[in-house]
Amino acid sequence: MTTSYGTNEANRQDTIVANGATKIAALKVLIVGAGIGGLTAVIALRKEGHDVQVFEQSAFAREAGAAIHLAPNANGVLRRLGIFAESFGANSMDRLTEFTSSGEKQRSIDLREPNKQWQHPWHLAHRIDLHNNLKLAATDPHGKGSVQIHTSSKVTNVDPMSASVTLENGARFQGDLVIGADGVHSVARKSIPESNFKPFGSGKSAFRFLVPRKLAQEDPTTQQFLQNDGELLIWYANDRRIVMYPTSNNTVLNFVCVHPEAETEEQSGENWNQTGDLDLLLKVYSTFDSAVLKLLGKAEPGSIKVWKLLDMDVIPSWTNERLALLGDSAHPFLPHQGQGAGVAIEDAAALAVVLPMGTKPEEVVERLKLYQDIRVDRANKIQAHSRLAGGDSDSHFKIDMYGFTNYHFGHDEYDNA
Ligand code: FAD
Repeated sequence: MTTSYGTNEANRQDTIVANGATKIAALKVLIVGAGIGGLTAVIALRKEGHDVQVFEQSAFAREAGAAIHLAPNANGVLRRLGIFAESFGANSMDRLTEFTSSGEKQRSIDLREPNKQWQHPWHLAHRIDLHNNLKLAATDPHGKGSVQIHTSSKVTNVDPMSASVTLENGARFQGDLVIGADGVHSVARKSIPESNFKPFGSGKSAFRFLVPRKLAQEDPTTQQFLQNDGELLIWYANDRRIVMYPTSNNTVLNFVCVHPEAETEEQSGENWNQTGDLDLLLKVYSTFDSAVLKLLGKAEPGSIKVWKLLDMDVIPSWTNERLALLGDSAHPFLPHQGQGAGVAIEDAAALAVVLPMGTKPEEVVERLKLYQDIRVDRANKIQAHSRLAGGDSDSHFKIDMYGFTNYHFGHDEYDNA
């Protein structure tokens, strides 16, 4: 059965309004995936007045219990869309301090001054809070356009010519365009034949877990790591690293520990929710400063996740006819700069820019190509820099990991667009 939700040329209904002018109909947009990128696209496209349907395979995307960087580039877009991370407990990122694995301080950068120069703040947010706030904004009953979110609705096929999606249960929906926001293992990407690439293991895996800040504060050995609010700490060895930063109004410490994939082979999978164990975590980082190991030891054993960090070659095209990809489906980044979600958020905003209210269905194919032209260079640059930032090196301290001083995250290219 096809639910013809769309306005193919034949059944398109523009309205003649009182003064005889034609009011252009909204576009009918189908989005595959209600992750961070998909939900941001809903918000941005509804703001233009378009009608959106989203198909999410889960009961509703359950975000991992972990934190996320909202660098100024992502935050600028979110703030324009009415989402202010400080309202849901995000910490301001005020300082970056780097150590050797044995605990020797290498440099400490006060970011409060650059923070003032950036056009938007740099925040450290809890993913669940971000996702919940995106959901609320996406389903705002007072917003423009309309939205319908179909949960437990796994898309099995996308037809770019007719702008339709088919679900696992056989139901078919048709619109004016389809956006593939379905993550690194994208089904939508399979409908761009020359881009039907598979992600591959990058050689690294990561443990991820949270520690209540109170536990670290109570322990005289670990108090030393809590000198400044909003401080991100990194301990580097040649081929592994521990990153810690606060979130949730400074009540929680988020850890990401990256190491060679082979060392956790028996536990890590490609699934973000793969459970790892504390003994293995402590073994993999056993050469690090004992005070840091005490911090790691405060992780609640059941909360530890471990997964393979995936990479993918640059795909030649993000679009095919009435289909466009965004976020991880187009460019799964390694997480070393904390930009995967940030760039998915930018992609979503760019789509709304090229598809303003008044765009006709017959213009969609060209507009989607324009979207790709606008975005691809920047995404490729960030992908390349993420690989560099995650590489093995005994001189990590020379790498501008989070792009504080180079091209990308502090400024806001949309202000100049
Ligand atoms: P996803 O978040 O993967 O969402 C895809 C959605 O599509 C999911 O809800 C999924 O259920 C749904 N879906 C998939 N297939 C189907 C289907 N067939 N039918 C229907 N629905 C489907 N990014 C940052 O910006 N800052 C950070 O600090 C950061 N830290 C990270 C740390 C680690 C260790 C890792 C691995 C990643 C990190 N990232 C970070 C990256 C970031 O999480 C991702 O880039 C981001 O989630 C991508 O968003 P997305 O919407 O494109 O895809």
